[in-house]
Amino acid sequence: METLRSLEALERERLLTADPRLAEAAQSMAIALTPDMLALIDRRDPARDPIARQFVPDAAETEVSADELADPIGDEARSPVKGIVHRYPDRVLLKPLHVCPVYCRFCFRREKVGPGGEALSAGELDSALAYIREHREIWEVILTGGDPLMLAPRRLAELLARLDAIDHVAVLRIHSRVPIVDPGRVTNELLAALRGRRAALWLGVHCNHPRELSTATRAALARLADAGIPLLGQTVLLAGINDDLETLDRLMRALVASRVKPYYLHHPDLVRGTGHFRVSIERGQALMKALRGRLSGLAQPTYVLDVPGGHGKVPIGPSYLGPGHLGDDPQGLLVEDAFGERHRYPR
Ligand SMILES: *Cc1c(COP(=O)(O)O)cnc(C)c1O
Ligand code: SF4
Repeated sequence: METLRSLEALERERLLTADPRLAEAAQSMAIALTPDMLALIDRRDPARDPIARQFVPDAAETEVSADELADPIGDEARSPVKGIVHRYPDRVLLKPLHVCPVYCRFCFRREKVGPGGEALSAGELDSALAYIREHREIWEVILTGGDPLMLAPRRLAELLARLDAIDHVAVLRIHSRVPIVDPGRVTNELLAALRGRRAALWLGVHCNHPRELSTATRAALARLADAGIPLLGQTVLLAGINDDLETLDRLMRALVASRVKPYYLHHPDLVRGTGHFRVSIERGQALMKALRGRLSGLAQPTYVLDVPGGHGKVPIGPSYLGPGHLGDDPQGLLVEDAFGERHRYPR
């Protein structure tokens, strides 16, 4: 079975809800739904299914609000050469291609990703690598895109070898959705391309719902972990998909049980046409607070917001250090424990 890539293909699988705005919604971003993800969808009610909703176009995508942005995290303002985003002194993003195994309707780069957005040409890649070579303060290179694991293993190995040869680069980090949505791509060839580097290689996998951790996906994560690759989890907080305590609890536990350390829970970005996925920051904080008393420290992600305009990511709470004081010590601080009780701490 092939990846579904059109409204017609989704219609044949009865995944669509009839709406005259659907064609316009579909045009706003490429469609791709892998057979592995299709197999996880509850066909009785796809309009509410947490897997289907991530990949199937929704008429609500045609509703754009004034706060939403074409470049929600300000990548363009921080791009010194094509394919590089340099926001923090010690690390850069390198985007070798714009293709993904699936297209997530809430994607923060939804106006950039897709089969039309080509990979960097050989010359452009040379210039991007030259930039990294010339900037000795770059300690970490974060490969993103698109999805770097969509490169053929031979090309990926070549790229990693060229980065590995830059001696000030100590860490290579890849962000990918491949092991989750298309685990069959985690082949021995791919593992061989990833392992055995001088620089430490970390892999961040993007996973939003516990059902995404199917038997095949858990096996792919085990192959990666067995190959010695440290795994991080990234989740986007999404309304109606994972913005409830039970779902986040199961997701974070399932990741840790697969040797994936939850790294970030991303507050959804102000991407055009994604208001139906957005959750309030207050709700995100309340969920994080509830997770704190209930889940192992290993299973706690940091809740972050990418500040619009290219200002980078910051943790957005919740905070456990309250204003005010208890009893007769006006200098003291108030600390709230994970169960909601307040305690005094001397300043
Ligand atoms: C997210 C991001 C990074 C990585 O940030 P970490 O907090 O190190 O994960 C680096 N550069 C840019 C431009 C980013 O958007
Ligand atoms: S895989 Fe990542 S980059 Fe690609 S569409 Fe999904 S969120 Fe966007």
